[in-house]
Amino acid sequence: MVLASGGFEWDAMRRSRHFPWPFDYISSPHTNEGDAHRMAEAIGARLAHMDQALITGALPALYEGQRYGLSVFFQYEHNVILVNRHGERLTNEFTFNLGEMLDEREYPQGPPAHLPAWLISDVRLLWRAPLVLACAVRNPGWLRRAATLEALTQRLGLPSESLTRSVARFNQFCRQGVDEDFHREQSVSHANGDRRFHVGLRAIQRGPFIAVPFNSTYLATKWGPRTDEFGRVVHQNGAVIPGLFCAGVAMANPIGSRAVGAGTTLGPNLTWGYICGRTLAQQARGKPPIPLAEET
Ligand SMILES: Cc1cc2nc3c(=O)[nH]c(=O)nc-3n(C[C@H](O)[C@H](O)[C@H](O)COP(=O)(O)OP(=O)(O)OC[C@H]3O[C@@H](n4cnc5c(N)ncnc54)[C@H](O)[C@@H]3O)c2cc1C
Repeated sequence: MVLASGGFEWDAMRRSRHFPWPFDYISSPHTNEGDAHRMAEAIGARLAHMDQALITGALPALYEGQRYGLSVFFQYEHNVILVNRHGERLTNEFTFNLGEMLDEREYPQGPPAHLPAWLISDVRLLWRAPLVLACAVRNPGWLRRAATLEALTQRLGLPSESLTRSVARFNQFCRQGVDEDFHREQSVSHANGDRRFHVGLRAIQRGPFIAVPFNSTYLATKWGPRTDEFGRVVHQNGAVIPGLFCAGVAMANPIGSRAVGAGTTLGPNLTWGYICGRTLAQQARGKPPIPLAEET
């Protein structure tokens, strides 16, 4: 049997045990309730990575009548910065790995260090990103706006003057053409890789100023049974559990919460699916599994 039932993000009880803090949305099929995890746990499988997940920011949407996080790259615009709950800019906003930043903890397995986080921009974001505008119209109260940065700071409950300081510093970098804090001028947006339109720095200066919530949305949890190199589930006592395999995000995912690029999860998922299939084919022939390194 190959366990491949996805993550456990729709199992409210387990989610609240391993991720016991507010989140924005879940983006995966609501059938991903951790059935494989329960079965593996019941027979003593060795489990790992319980508090890790593929995380991103997302737009509010409805899918089959349920609240859903639309995971699109709306954040890669050059007049946008990402600030944390102190109103401080967090990172190079064009990095692929924003999810790991959102998931950064105050201490191991503790609460998120930066949330709630906000994308700060000005009215021109709405002209450039019609999807954000549409979400704002459909979801009153989701996007915060104010005529001045001071007023926006108050609306978000951030420390006084924090946004004014962060935006002024960013705008100074825009004038220089060099982001001294995170060197965003060297990045290409992942939205479409078009250097002319998506690279770089543009000042945030034309009111009204806006803040878009950018918190944890779960695409897939990474907790699950550990396997050996042939995809066979390992028992807590170290032995292989006969006949039990695991692939996809149901397994203890080797990359954890980090996003290393397009295919961060699909790549390992396909690879482990292939490994499981190959081991099973060998087993059916009555032959030992072949190590991946010996692939011809
Ligand atoms: C919006 C979104 C965007 C993403 N973008 C990317 C990306 O760009 N790059 C990337 O690498 N990854 C991306 N991911 C993550 C990637 O899609 C998932 O990690 C991947 O689909 C997981 O594959 P899987 O087969 O392990 O699980 P899933 O694709 O979730 O499939 C699990 C299946 O098992 C079914 N199931 C559950 N319980 C049972 C049961 N008891 N019996 C039978 N069936 C059951 C579920 O219905 C589901 O169909 C994205 C995810 C989302 C949600």
